[in-house]
Amino acid sequence: MNEDMRPIECSVTVTDEGAKVVVPCWALEECLDQSYGRGTKYQGLTQPYLVNMETHKHSRSPIVFKGGKHTKPGLTVNYCPFCGSNVKTHEEEE
Ligand SMILES: [Zn+2]
Repeated sequence: MNEDMRPIECSVTVTDEGAKVVVPCWALEECLDQSYGRGTKYQGLTQPYLVNMETHKHSRSPIVFKGGKHTKPGLTVNYCPFCGSNVKTHEEEE
């Protein structure tokens, strides 16, 4: 099956500002909340735009799950639930 030109797997890219941004795969992209975390009542997967408070620059855009007891601030997802790719944007533990 052809899934358009959208990525089959997630990846993490680094912007010119040094921000780590998850590039979602097509399945994850379809599930993401398009308000980018602004809606506080949203439950599900979202991709907030996080800013470094010291530099006031975009620091990272992880994938965050909101639901159950974790509607705010939510839980950062380490792996895509669809393609299984590593989508960590914080420091690697390895
Ligand atoms: Zn994915």
